[in-house]
Amino acid sequence: MGFKARARKFKSKDEEKGTEESSKPENEVPCGIKGCENFADKHLGGRSLGRNKVLEVWNKSEFEEIKGRVRMCKKCYRILKKETKDSKEWV
Ligand SMILES: [Zn+2]
Repeated sequence: MGFKARARKFKSKDEEKGTEESSKPENEVPCGIKGCENFADKHLGGRSLGRNKVLEVWNKSEFEEIKGRVRMCKKCYRILKKETKDSKEWV
């Protein structure tokens, strides 16, 4: 039993090394929509969308983009999806 516990300890130590403050690897990507407090992490249903798509719903000054992409939380994504439901050529 002692050996197993030791091996486990070793592993977690290694993981810590890779991502410094990762006692909780969730909720790290803030939503790109300004004023939105949610997170856009994939495991929370967040998405990354092209800025042109986001521009159909929000003004340029209302979101943050990174290299033409906007990280978006599930909630904002649903808003966008609803607002742009007539256009089908995007995911
Ligand atoms: Zn949001």
